[in-house]
Amino acid sequence: MAEHQVVVIGAGMAGLVSALQLAQQGLSVTVVDKANQPGGKVRQILVDGAAVDSGPTVFTMRWVFDQVMASIGTRLEDELKIHRLNVLARHFWEDGSQLNLYADPQASYNAVAAFAGVAEADRFTQFCKTTREVYDALEKPFIRSPSPTMAQMMGGLGPRGLATLATVGPMRSLWNSLGKHFTDPRLRQLFARYATYCGSSPWEAPATLMLIAQVEMDGVWAVEGGMHALAQCLMRLGSQKGVQYKFNSECERIELTQGRVSGVRLQSGDSLRANSVVFNGDIAALRAGLLGAGTRQAVTTKVQPRSLSAITWSLHTPTSGLALDRHNVFFRSNYAQEFEAIFQHSRLPAQPTVYVCAQDRGTGASVEGAERLLCLVNAPANGDKRGLSSQELADCTASSQELLAACGLSLQLEPSASCIRTTPQDFNQLFPATGGALYGQATHGWMAAFARSNAKSQVPGLYLAGGSVHPGPGVPMAAMSGQLAAAALMANLGLTKSSQVVATSGGTLTH
Ligand SMILES: Cc1cc2nc3c(=O)[nH]c(=O)nc-3n(C[C@H](O)[C@H](O)[C@H](O)COP(=O)(O)OP(=O)(O)OC[C@H]3O[C@@H](n4cnc5c(N)ncnc54)[C@H](O)[C@@H]3O)c2cc1C
Repeated sequence: MAEHQVVVIGAGMAGLVSALQLAQQGLSVTVVDKANQPGGKVRQILVDGAAVDSGPTVFTMRWVFDQVMASIGTRLEDELKIHRLNVLARHFWEDGSQLNLYADPQASYNAVAAFAGVAEADRFTQFCKTTREVYDALEKPFIRSPSPTMAQMMGGLGPRGLATLATVGPMRSLWNSLGKHFTDPRLRQLFARYATYCGSSPWEAPATLMLIAQVEMDGVWAVEGGMHALAQCLMRLGSQKGVQYKFNSECERIELTQGRVSGVRLQSGDSLRANSVVFNGDIAALRAGLLGAGTRQAVTTKVQPRSLSAITWSLHTPTSGLALDRHNVFFRSNYAQEFEAIFQHSRLPAQPTVYVCAQDRGTGASVEGAERLLCLVNAPANGDKRGLSSQELADCTASSQELLAACGLSLQLEPSASCIRTTPQDFNQLFPATGGALYGQATHGWMAAFARSNAKSQVPGLYLAGGSVHPGPGVPMAAMSGQLAAAALMANLGLTKSSQVVATSGGTLTH
């Protein structure tokens, strides 16, 4: 076993998990990444001396990581300090209204009742019941399946699952479906936003994506040291199992011998021998031939539109005028214009929704003086095509600041020593061939979820892992894809069944 060499290209969530699980099985694993730190999108930026989480901030589905830890004989709480948040998110509207959603369903019910009336709160309860059913119906035949097809999924749903899907109307858009659940437009907007968690428009995402709301209602955690601590933890555990990590090491070619993977060549000129390669970059890079002409055909699934990109501002600054919680969302009255601008006109929205993660809040610690913030607005993934003009950036910045100010929060988003901006062009450089798309392909239309590649590529010895492949984007989903890639590789070596690592390791969202 020890002589089977695996190179994992990319130390994103999926790459880190794959490497850890393959090393646990006794394989010799080297991870190479062009970045100078582990985590990929889970990255920290030093702003004014403070380490600001500048990628994912909402940690959900912790059971995925409980399983990863259990598979190597440890527990998440023994490796990291994590806190369950009481407030899932605080939502603000231009008209001055505010709504918190809580971990406690009764507290959320009471908040919705005070916000929009008891009848709407009852509809909220019914909505939660539906999202629970949708999640439960799809977890096994889709999320945990290594390579779901429509036919297999329908077969796996069973009569109850089929009835649930029929109620939701999977051919409907999320936006359309939410109109049947809520009469208050603000609640429709709030729950529609969950489509953006996989980089999609609520107007084009299927209604089944309402299950993302359920994932959040099942629990949001904060990691001490930031989300980046999770990546560091996976790397530390991998090192203990013998994984070698090489940073500042861009892979420029996956070498093939007689059509099979035989190694990788780094930009430095070094070559690494490999019997198998796990590719954790976006599969768009393979399609574009960035890893060599031989792996261009590794992915044969249909190309879908790119998911959302973003403009982010990582800040270290005092705040005043508004009681922020950890996760804060600032909404406009006209939501549709944001997605029209991005997906139909490939433009920055004139009036973006603004997300603010106040990462020193929500866990009971007191905040004095400068605090660490990540602000984010959605943007088109055109970072490889045309640069945003300085006017476009200035307008977007001004509009975002105006919205925050209208809600009572004064923030300076101009780049400075205490504010670092990241644009779609920057994301495109960090994540090649994506145009800055942060969530792989958009989940637009009912079939889009089946259009993702699975862990096995068309090239023998090459496996795929990450947010651009099944089961899709998001920290826990990418981690699952890492497990699936490790399982597929091990299965090919005749050591396990391909679905074993993920599908039989137990666990449900209620863990
Ligand atoms: C701003 C932002 C906010 C987000 N918010 C959330 C959130 O709140 N909750 C959530 O769950 N998810 C969120 N996400 C999504 C989540 O971060 C991603 O889906 C997930 O982290 C992707 O992991 P991955 O395994 O696909 O690897 P990636 O993070 O995409 O990492 C891939 C790695 O591969 C490396 N690489 C690529 N090509 C090469 C090459 N040729 N040679 C060497 N190295 C290479 C890259 O340098 C990178 O380190 C957010 C993402 C961003 C950017």
